[in-house]
Amino acid sequence: MLTDPLTGAATKGFAGAYGTAPEGIWSAPGRVNLIGEHTDYNDGFVLPFAIGARTAVAAAHRDDGFLVVASAQYPDEVVTVPLAEIEAEGPPGVAGWPGYVAGVAWAVTRASSGHAGPGPAGSGVSLYVTSDVPAGSGLSSSAALECATGCALNDLWQAGASRGELARACRRAENEVVGAPTGIMDQFASLFGEEGGAVFLDCREVTGEIVPLDPEAAGLEILLADTGERHAHASGGYASRRASCERAAEALGVRALRDVSAKDLEKAAATLDDETFRRARHVVTENGRVLEMARALRAGALRDTTGGAGALHQRRAAVGALLTASHASMRDDFEITTPALDLAVETAVRAGAFGARMTGGGFGGSVLALVPQGYAGVVGDEITAAFDRDGYDPPALSTVSPSAGARRDTYP
Ligand code: ADP
Ligand code: MG
Repeated sequence: MLTDPLTGAATKGFAGAYGTAPEGIWSAPGRVNLIGEHTDYNDGFVLPFAIGARTAVAAAHRDDGFLVVASAQYPDEVVTVPLAEIEAEGPPGVAGWPGYVAGVAWAVTRASSGHAGPGPAGSGVSLYVTSDVPAGSGLSSSAALECATGCALNDLWQAGASRGELARACRRAENEVVGAPTGIMDQFASLFGEEGGAVFLDCREVTGEIVPLDPEAAGLEILLADTGERHAHASGGYASRRASCERAAEALGVRALRDVSAKDLEKAAATLDDETFRRARHVVTENGRVLEMARALRAGALRDTTGGAGALHQRRAAVGALLTASHASMRDDFEITTPALDLAVETAVRAGAFGARMTGGGFGGSVLALVPQGYAGVVGDEITAAFDRDGYDPPALSTVSPSAGARRDTYP
């Protein structure tokens, strides 16, 4: 049995909340998106990886027909939902953070081809959530919560859903119960992530491929700088960007922007208003950058020493340039960055990063920077100093590397 701190906290928390031991603990990681922002709902390509920070869900059956959920991160609220509501046709009317959990329970009962249901009448389930994924900082604490919950219920209820079915169920919970119109990237990364690899995902086919990404082995680090600015996914900017993309696809006569090449888009420029054109251009060029990045990583560009140190440096710089170009596109065409995010990227690149970009849905959150090993501290200090100069709160700095996906942590 694994006894990492998170598993220990989940066991303790569960016992405190319910006065008994859990039957098991399931956990799922947050993710960082290396590249491919706002391409997922355009049927395009993304390249996220699972990170070390995880959400754990301790769970056990109960016999009163209720789904009860508590979270260490929201200690004032224990929520009880009748399983009848979970089994009902329509989505459960549960608001706030418990909506993610009730939503997954609802979607999981509909996800699998095998037995789909909470079990015999009168049964129920107790869940206790604990996490070290910060919420709202672009690391997808929502998917970590959904996927850990999904794995727990799938096992407890012997629902027999595959990982792919779980990814869809978790997305459905976020779309239909929470009401956030997000794509499937976050859930896919959290469920399929691996140590030493990023998850290349074709969001139309919903097929993935692990491409090698082991920063440490390549003598690199991936620095994350969280600006502390928080976004609100379910509202505002995200929905309006999504609507722009749909408008552009319709005007161009394609199913989704995935079907548009950079050349086609330039030719059709006159048929779109300037803003819609720029929104579409971000998606089209970003898809190109993801494909380019996947190609480079498959070819081992970050560690291929053929041609000597100079050639290796050039390959790394080319990979980094894809990141920085992605940021420029999000800043100028998609307009989802903030001055603090832009400052973090500029400063990182000036301080010696191969490249940097905002990661996540935008309007706040984090910047990632690809830096030589041993330089994360220096680059982080430079960002902190620049933030101080311009009157921003100090960023929260960490390094991330591709880590394991969702799993059952305990085997009672
Ligand atoms: P992100 O996924 O980028 O962290 P979201 O707004 O998509 O941001 O999801 C954050 C929301 O997910 C939180 O506001 C909360 O409702 C829910 N959530 C995340 N982690 C937890 C947790 N450990 N316990 C309870 N709710 C959580
Ligand atoms: Mg989220």
